[in-house]
Amino acid sequence: MELIYSNSIGFCSGVKRAFSILDEAIEYSRLKNVLVYLYGDIVHNERAVLEVKKRGVIKIESADDFKPGSILVIRAHGISSRHLSEFKKKNAIVFDATCPIVKKSYELLSNAKNSKAILGKRDHDEVKELKDEFPDAYIAGSVDDLKTLKSGVYDAVLQTTLSRETLSRVTFFLESADIKMNFLNSICYETAKRLDSLLCLSDKSDALLVIGDKKSSNTKMLFDRAKSLGLPAYFAEDIRDVLGYLSQYERVGVISGTSTPESLYLI
Ligand code: SF4
Repeated sequence: MELIYSNSIGFCSGVKRAFSILDEAIEYSRLKNVLVYLYGDIVHNERAVLEVKKRGVIKIESADDFKPGSILVIRAHGISSRHLSEFKKKNAIVFDATCPIVKKSYELLSNAKNSKAILGKRDHDEVKELKDEFPDAYIAGSVDDLKTLKSGVYDAVLQTTLSRETLSRVTFFLESADIKMNFLNSICYETAKRLDSLLCLSDKSDALLVIGDKKSSNTKMLFDRAKSLGLPAYFAEDIRDVLGYLSQYERVGVISGTSTPESLYLI
């Protein structure tokens, strides 16, 4: 069996940046002898999160559990200014690893002239923080959600990893609805590129393997696309878990979500 790796695989630029900022924070904590806290998960990958924990970083969900004067690392999915101010009140030394593409969504919504909308999953960290920043924004994760939206004009940001399929369904629905939605440019080009490279990979493969975590939106999106391409498609958290089974194929195309560490797809 030959493994054919996608040319778009492993950490995206936002995740690489987040890990490099985390490294800086850990180094600084050693110099200053202070604790390092991480707001939420650094990325949506359980194994990557465990590695971070082993390095002594403490995950927290709110400022209530934060020791004053310690380091706070903000994950790639960002934080609302209200939540950040709670840490600042406790003199947090902030290392901000928010992905610049996520930051752009905050800027775009701040400058919105019409009613605000966020298209994305209500329970995704990025969307939850955006909603906290803009409590008046309407959240829609599906066409069904949009059916309850009052008629009018909306300026909308998209969860950075929203799939093009969801966006197409939304656009199609809006054509016949009494709603005008201006889509602000917030989608992540890295995930879009990865979906395109999956198509190229399928031309050279007998089966497709997507490596990543079940919690990762973009990994799930990749797997859904892989299943739609007419080849047998498999999902695994670690390539080693499925190698034996995949040996029935001559050429297996391998791709990963943007938060999957190298150690989980290279053998
Ligand atoms: S997937 Fe895109 S938006 Fe998310 S961290 Fe990576 S580069 Fe940023």
